Amino acid sequence: MRNPDVKIVGVVGDPISHSLSPRLHSYWLKKYNILGDYVPFHITKNELPNFINSLKGDNITGINLTVPHKESAMKLVDEADASAKKIGAVNTIYFDNKNRIIGSNTDGHGFLKNLRNSAEGWRADNCPTVIIGAGGAARAAIVSLLDVGVPEIKLINRTQERAVCLLQEIDDNRIRVIPWGGREDALSGVKLLVNATTLGMVSQPALELSLDKLPKDATVYDIIYNPIETKLIKQARERGNKTVDGLGMLLHQAAVGFKAWFGVDPEVDDGIRNHLLEVLR
Ligand code: NAP
Repeated sequence: MRNPDVKIVGVVGDPISHSLSPRLHSYWLKKYNILGDYVPFHITKNELPNFINSLKGDNITGINLTVPHKESAMKLVDEADASAKKIGAVNTIYFDNKNRIIGSNTDGHGFLKNLRNSAEGWRADNCPTVIIGAGGAARAAIVSLLDVGVPEIKLINRTQERAVCLLQEIDDNRIRVIPWGGREDALSGVKLLVNATTLGMVSQPALELSLDKLPKDATVYDIIYNPIETKLIKQARERGNKTVDGLGMLLHQAAVGFKAWFGVDPEVDDGIRNHLLEVLR
């Protein structure tokens, strides 16, 4: 059973060596003088069911899940909370007082909190949006934006059928799927553009997108955080748009888990941001 004096939390993924989460949580553990550790676990898809099952008997306080486990974990937890059900994925596991495994999802919260903190004066009700991407991160962004009242989302993905499936699952008439070829025209009149693809990430090609039709008062949010300045962010900044990078999303989604496991609401400040920037490109 869990030893409340020494709390061990881990992040599970395949691959896992690139994960910033151990560095992030270790910083907060030290800052708040908490006796505990946060460790990476390299777990393959095949190993995940046994791994999650074994948690009940382990001295482990909680788990983060990353690629490729977020969706499959939905079926492996005892209960998925409302955030996980809405997003259809689990990125945070904790235990309730009956030792049941609860799956939660903090990506939507992280996405929105970062947007609100970084784009001063941002208002959902006045914010037609373009989202590029239809994977797990796009889904977290869409669900959280709809929840706070965004009037329209144009959803664009290279594989259009995936966007259509996402639309059918979320089933909200504020979403419209636009073909990949129409992505530049779709920018006209929007107030928020979100890149939720892997394009722009280190070792991936950039997102090639002319911003000519994007209004100058629109905010451009790239959820990629490595590198911290993607080509998209640079383009947007140079033409005078407000920009939001993905590091704040990572920090704010992590803060919710940290509070659930360790009982402290960690500050998302320049200290932790700079600590992570030291190892980013
Ligand atoms: P995912 O489920 O694998 O989805 C990947 C998305 O990228 C899909 O929409 C895919 O389109 C698109 N894509 C990949 N290669 C492409 C290409 N060459 N051209 C056009 N589109 C391409 O991944 P995810 O979990 O949503 O994550 C997406 C990104 O968000 C990752 O880089 C991840 O690190 C980042 N992320 C950041 C945070 C944060 O805290 N900042 C949190 C979660 C995720 P198709 O459907 O056509 O393949």
